[in-house]
Amino acid sequence: MPDADPKRRGEIKKFKPVLTATDFVLKILEHQAAARKVNLKAARIIVAGGAGVGGKENFRRVWSLANALGGDVGASRAAVDSGWIDKDHQVGQTGTTVRPALYIAVGISGAVQHRAGMSEAKKIVAINADPNAPIFQVAHYGIVGDLNRVIPMMIDAIKKRV
Ligand SMILES: Cc1cc2nc3c(=O)[nH]c(=O)nc-3n(C[C@H](O)[C@H](O)[C@H](O)COP(=O)(O)OP(=O)(O)OC[C@H]3O[C@@H](n4cnc5c(N)ncnc54)[C@H](O)[C@@H]3O)c2cc1C
Repeated sequence: MPDADPKRRGEIKKFKPVLTATDFVLKILEHQAAARKVNLKAARIIVAGGAGVGGKENFRRVWSLANALGGDVGASRAAVDSGWIDKDHQVGQTGTTVRPALYIAVGISGAVQHRAGMSEAKKIVAINADPNAPIFQVAHYGIVGDLNRVIPMMIDAIKKRV
């Protein structure tokens, strides 16, 4: 607080402020949605997409399956490096180690660095066009097929059950 200045003189005037309701209206100048940070460590269901998904646009299939199941989206490093999804979704040695009840690997080959982050999931389902893909070595259920055909069929089946 500044020191009092005895040389300064002032006159006290009474006044009544006239305020209307509109003077108290709050105006929202800008709306910024906070980006939701994914927390894969806490996820019960993860649908993860890899290079086999083929592109950022097609990655919506992975999001759709995750939404249908009420799960979160994970990814291989190949998908992250391609810029299809943010790094905080990466599962594996240099990503997050996850232990969900259900992990669905879509178009992911199952490299050792990826498996290091997901092999402790309670149930692993792999969808891959290549029957010899290493991901099938850790999967409890394997679907050999084109993810572009398999995912829509899975979503249809889920919708019928819910
Ligand atoms: C030091 C180091 C750290 C690493 N850390 C990680 C890590 O943390 N996480 C990680 O994931 N990787 C990591 N990697 C990279 C890892 O070695 C692999 O390169 C990467 O996991 C491969 O990703 P992917 O399986 O998506 O791609 P790919 O190996 O290219 O596999 C794509 C798969 O998609 C399948 N496919 C293609 N088209 C279709 C279709 N239409 N339908 C169904 N299946 C299809 C193919 O058969 C193939 O199996 C690391 C590597 C190094 C060297």
